[in-house]
Amino acid sequence: MSEIYQIAIDGPSGSGKSTLAKGVSKVLGIMYLDTGAMYRTCGLSALKRGISPRDEDAVKKMLEDMSLEIEFIDGEQHMILDGEDVTGQIRTPEVSIAASDISALPVIRKAMVEKQRAIASKQTFVLDGRDIGSNVLPNAKYKFFLTASAEKRAERRLAELNAKGDFSQNYEEVLRDIEYRDKQDSERASAPLVKVADAIEIDTSVIGIEETRDLLLSYIK
Ligand code: C5P
Repeated sequence: MSEIYQIAIDGPSGSGKSTLAKGVSKVLGIMYLDTGAMYRTCGLSALKRGISPRDEDAVKKMLEDMSLEIEFIDGEQHMILDGEDVTGQIRTPEVSIAASDISALPVIRKAMVEKQRAIASKQTFVLDGRDIGSNVLPNAKYKFFLTASAEKRAERRLAELNAKGDFSQNYEEVLRDIEYRDKQDSERASAPLVKVADAIEIDTSVIGIEETRDLLLSYIK
């Protein structure tokens, strides 16, 4: 049997993590776990229940009777919340903010990190997130940390939303949300976004996504 290993790709919102992780998983024929989708699903669950994603007691109770499952169908990650496939509901601006809020709560992080470790221990995976190399899988074989200016990331995020037919936000609003999430994700007490010493840092605003993917692969091969 071939060796099981993990690739960690961390970085802020819009740095190109998911596009790169998808590209790497395709080229290498390995599985891809989008950990942000898990926090997004928790955020969505709070919104659906009318709970504040910042209310730790209410979120703790929610976790007790909420079911969150991940299914991989034809290589695509599907998020199943209380038996419903909510994959198409977790990319809205409202859910992005709820995800950032709820992911600051230790009770949520503990539950999600346990799931992530269990999933990644069974097969070779590339995972993207904020704390994969620093906290979830400190022994990952390869660690990358992506950066890009907030303006560049806002441009990409807006293009992504528009491509999906979502015109609910303009550039300034997208930039404001990105800055809100950056600040919160970097300053929270529990597993904040940090670059660990053994991660390779790549600025994707300088070289673009395809070149970054090839660069990343060159380290792995
Ligand atoms: O990566 P994505 O933008 O989908 O993540 C949504 C939110 O989930 C982030 O703003 C961040 O607060 C949180 N997150 C996290 N740890 C991860 C992945 C995402 O806290 N490993």
